[in-house]
Amino acid sequence: MANSKYEYVKKFEMEDKLPPCNWIIVRIDGWHFHGFSDTHEFDKPNDENALNLMNSCAVSMAEHFTDIVFAYGVSDEYSFIWSERSQSYGRRASKILSLCVSYFTSMYVIKWKDFFPQKDLKKPPCFDGRIVLYPRVKMVRDYLCWRQVDCHINNQYNTCCWMLIKSGKSEKEAQELLKGTLAKDKNELLFQQFGINYNELPDIFRKGSCVYKDYAEEMVKVDACGNPVKRRRERVVVGHFDIIGDGFWDEHPYILK
Ligand code: ATP
Ligand code: ATP
Ligand code: MG
Ligand code: MG
Ligand code: MG
Ligand code: MG
Repeated sequence: MANSKYEYVKKFEMEDKLPPCNWIIVRIDGWHFHGFSDTHEFDKPNDENALNLMNSCAVSMAEHFTDIVFAYGVSDEYSFIWSERSQSYGRRASKILSLCVSYFTSMYVIKWKDFFPQKDLKKPPCFDGRIVLYPRVKMVRDYLCWRQVDCHINNQYNTCCWMLIKSGKSEKEAQELLKGTLAKDKNELLFQQFGINYNELPDIFRKGSCVYKDYAEEMVKVDACGNPVKRRRERVVVGHFDIIGDGFWDEHPYILK
């Protein structure tokens, strides 16, 4: 197309190419989900359908953006790890971030009815997003540890708080009772007052959710000699694991390669 006298305006756009050889983490978080969860009457402290909806959107993300190697989600947030070698969208930060946020949000709306067939979506879900870069796998692992520790601390606190509220305390009284308590005090409170063994609560609440590619051998057909012809099939899966220790990473060494 011929240059017009207006073309100079394009020069005001800023370069935002992310540096090479860095893992790209996109973390999105629901905007005002405290209110959003009230409006849609989420179970407290953990609405399992809402978590499964988030997980399903994350699976769609990993299927659609194939450079996403791992994702970790808890509550209204999800972190998507893009391969350090990704060349998608010229590694342009604004493209990657805006596509992640809008794709996730659209999936959330599209899939809402699958997880809440009885509930109308009354407010538009919004997510904010940010990008963080890490030049070493060790830092990516530490980032994930940080999120999973946060999941644990919040879940333990919220479980105590909501058990107290459900037993008749006001929100303020519950917060007062929990002020200054240590992890073991909270476990004790749950067990003594409510007969709950914290460690027996579902993994999805205590550990959050991991989304990654798994490989399974699959028989495609039988050849002329009657031997099975197998193919390694890739599928995106969800699991609730400890990602602080080495166990999961030793079993899936290809993820952060
Ligand atoms: P901000 O816009 O600053 O992120 P926010 O209200 O979303 O504000 P967060 O710190 O992100 O605050 O917390 C998310 C809140 O959403 C939680 O405190 C909880 O009340 C609610 N929430 C999110 N997911 C669930 C869920 N699966 N079950 C129950 N409540 C949930
Ligand atoms: P990219 O992802 O790079 O933006 P794109 O396919 O969206 O690729 P654009 O340059 O943004 O490319 O052009 C948008 C295209 O979408 C148009 O070329 C046209 O084919 C189609 N399109 C968008 N809006 C309309 C519309 N209202 N009616 C018909 N076609 C439309
Ligand atoms: Mg936020
Ligand atoms: Mg939020
Ligand atoms: Mg949050
Ligand atoms: Mg376009």
